[in-house]
Amino acid sequence: MIPLYPLRFRLLVRRYLWGSRRLETCLGKPLGPGNDYAESWEVCDRGVDQSIVDQGPLAGTSLGELVCQRGPELFGRHRPQSHFPLLVKYLDAAQPLSVQVHPNDEQAARLNPPDLGKTEAWYILSADPGSTIYAGLRPGVDCQQLVEGIGQGTCENLLHHFQPKAGDCLFIPAGTVHALGAGLLVVEVQQSSDTTFRLYDWNRVGPNGKPRPLHIEQGLAVVDFQLGPVDPVPSQLTDCPWVSRLVASDKFIMDRWEFDQPRTIGGDDQFHIVTVLQGAVRMEGDPRIAPLPQGGTALLPASLGSVRLVPQQRTVLLDLYLG
Ligand SMILES: [Zn+2]
Repeated sequence: MIPLYPLRFRLLVRRYLWGSRRLETCLGKPLGPGNDYAESWEVCDRGVDQSIVDQGPLAGTSLGELVCQRGPELFGRHRPQSHFPLLVKYLDAAQPLSVQVHPNDEQAARLNPPDLGKTEAWYILSADPGSTIYAGLRPGVDCQQLVEGIGQGTCENLLHHFQPKAGDCLFIPAGTVHALGAGLLVVEVQQSSDTTFRLYDWNRVGPNGKPRPLHIEQGLAVVDFQLGPVDPVPSQLTDCPWVSRLVASDKFIMDRWEFDQPRTIGGDDQFHIVTVLQGAVRMEGDPRIAPLPQGGTALLPASLGSVRLVPQQRTVLLDLYLG
């Protein structure tokens, strides 16, 4: 059997009305014609939506196939898993995204078909002047007020909001009402779930001239009215001076690395996902000679043990894993 190695995947983009072309201009991803490239799915195992290995002897294999056939090597101590548990995306929010909410695991398990809940985190890569994040309800906002705000088209007045800067990280637990405003380029890490309830869409219409559907009743049922405003997380020191911890949740961990000397990652019997925000890094065992560039993502299977990362210059990356 072919030993696993650091896995890179084919480009998988999604086009929505709120995108633009910054996945190419800022992150170097080759796009076709059009001005509505919204999401690049970096690591994905969702039914027909699959990350496909694009280098080395396993090229052409889907992440779902690897989960089925190579689970113990991929997941190490987190085996078994029926699907890859995390979804990692880059988002180009040139226009605001809808105001939305996601269920937790317990609520999502009762859906038909059942799904995972969705807790997510955002790392802000760039923020245009004046761009806004909406995260959590203002203190004291209750269901009645939210219903009225949605009905009257004034929902944003009920949401906590602020102007983020590059490097901010937001942790959005399931049940938090949230939206990305216009002018943000973001890395999003989430439980691999498809369930989004759209509460409010800024009174706008979709490509067909009609408002996109809302899911107000289902959404209100999963809003956690006890969760108040959400602000950027403070980063925590770790034992390694080049690593700061941004998110430590029961769903995933997000560490930020900033380094210019070779370092090792992993060796803890679980997978790690690295995505390069700045600079470039060569990975021990990568069949491709070119380093992983800015905007590039790799999945390091648990079976690799510790992997030496050699930055080509001062490099910033995110390390994502289950913990
Ligand atoms: Zn969301």
